[in-house]
Amino acid sequence: MKHTKPALGIAFAAAALLAVPTAFSLALPQDQPNVGYSDTPFLPGDEWRVHDSARPAPTVVTPGVGLAPPSDALILFNGKDLSSWKSADKDARWKLDDGVMEVNGTGTIETRETFGDIQLHVEWAAPAVVESSSQGRGNSGVFLMGRYELQVLDSFDNRSYSDGQAAAMYGQYPPLVNACRKPGEWQTYDIVFRAPRFEGERLLKPATLTVLHNGVLVHDAEAFLGATAHRALAKYSQHAAQGPISLQDHGNPVRYRNIWVRRL
Ligand code: MG
Repeated sequence: MKHTKPALGIAFAAAALLAVPTAFSLALPQDQPNVGYSDTPFLPGDEWRVHDSARPAPTVVTPGVGLAPPSDALILFNGKDLSSWKSADKDARWKLDDGVMEVNGTGTIETRETFGDIQLHVEWAAPAVVESSSQGRGNSGVFLMGRYELQVLDSFDNRSYSDGQAAAMYGQYPPLVNACRKPGEWQTYDIVFRAPRFEGERLLKPATLTVLHNGVLVHDAEAFLGATAHRALAKYSQHAAQGPISLQDHGNPVRYRNIWVRRL
């Protein structure tokens, strides 16, 4: 670490003297002169040239340490209260205990705010005590826009129909692999959701979902066939450009913690 700065400085000075492009120029802050180029070809279909000096620098975001959210996330649940959530037109009434919220039969909850394209982080745990089987074991779900379900289920040594197991796009696509942890253990969903686009009632572009389950890729920009349905084919019907994120009350005491979102 000690030698990083001088070494970089010398390398840059040498590069500037020789006017030779180097990888170092990419790492320099935007306010430094002679960053990049203005005589390179335009990128196809873009307003920016290759290595364009004027191209805005990406916003600096401080990533969270361990389980903490990154600096630009909107916190939906930090373990303290359910103020970001409601249930129909009432306040959310899930059990809140020790930084964790738990499904308790008071109904599905949804965010007060609405969202379109998002990155979403959710942590959940199926009940440690195994009761029932198949769809009766740790069933809940993350509904994007209140319509498109990423299934939550205890799929650790628990066979159910594949398009209904943990991390399935319910009723449509099983996850690419089963990355489920044991009952009672905390699990993560890291989600990139792209909302569908409509022109009037006509679907222009389907909703897509990318999901890492416990850090393992289980959906790769997979297109939803439509809004989630049970024992029926999913289909699209036109809806608003933004919708709530909802968490399903399916009667099993599934727990949630550390939920945050970033608008894309
Ligand atoms: Mg479900």
